[in-house]
Amino acid sequence: MIPFTGSPLDRAGQMRTDAEFLRARAADPDSLVLPLWRLQPFILGPDNAPAPLELGLLRPGLAEALAAPGAPSIFLGLEGGRAMFAIDISAARDPANEGPLAGLGHFRDARGAAMLLPDRDVAILGEAKALIDWHERHGFCARCGAPTAIADGGWKRICAACNTEHFPRTDPVVIMLATHGDACLVGRGKHFPPGMFSALAGFIEPGETIEEAVRRELMEEAGVRAGDVKYYATQPWPFPASLMIGCFADVEARALTLDKTEIVEAVWLERAEARALINGGQANGVWLPPRIAIAHHLIKAWAEK
Ligand SMILES: [Zn+2]
Repeated sequence: MIPFTGSPLDRAGQMRTDAEFLRARAADPDSLVLPLWRLQPFILGPDNAPAPLELGLLRPGLAEALAAPGAPSIFLGLEGGRAMFAIDISAARDPANEGPLAGLGHFRDARGAAMLLPDRDVAILGEAKALIDWHERHGFCARCGAPTAIADGGWKRICAACNTEHFPRTDPVVIMLATHGDACLVGRGKHFPPGMFSALAGFIEPGETIEEAVRRELMEEAGVRAGDVKYYATQPWPFPASLMIGCFADVEARALTLDKTEIVEAVWLERAEARALINGGQANGVWLPPRIAIAHHLIKAWAEK
């Protein structure tokens, strides 16, 4: 499974407008609440606990007092009949060490946590993190600048002045493995960790199809002309709000013209070399993305074909 996919939750979108239902479930002792503090999820146990970690899903009433008035409380959905919520407790000073959560667990960077949690927890975390992050960045109306308020269990904000409704956004990104014969193209973005190479990627622009964005990005970043583009899979990527759309793209030739403002280096990997690297190897200091990234699955699917 690709991390951040396969959520166990039924989003039960039809219940988001039922304020009475949400109030009752938020107080139901069977419900579960995930606190996020400054976009970091609560994780049960000490910060040196071995993987797999366990997401800090708490009974209602434990963490809510740490949230500031008006802070997001989000109805994530139902698992079986049990409701799950996420709350933003960023107003707390040091909630892992003082107050009701002290001694129960710790807060951890969401991306780091996602590498150590079971897949079901990663999917729940992705939904929670993306939404709380969106609320944090959308306190004011993009139309008139007045403050907005949370509505519909966290799935909408409404402007108090002009009544415009704002909905959580997802930004599509194409990530494509260019292939030529029995080789694939991987590049180093300028912000990548040393030695890491990955599939090339870029945001889809307004008015573009997925295939057009793949072809444009490959031409802009690497100077290669793509023919056939094939869809592979998608991955929600909550950093902060992307949907990664994985594709394969056959290109006409291997000669590269890199856009050095984006890609500092790129190499063609023969299939056997890519297979060894994606399964944890390193060669000449080159390594490929870990399992958390869709690029890992894209490269692996091609390399092991
Ligand atoms: Zn407004």
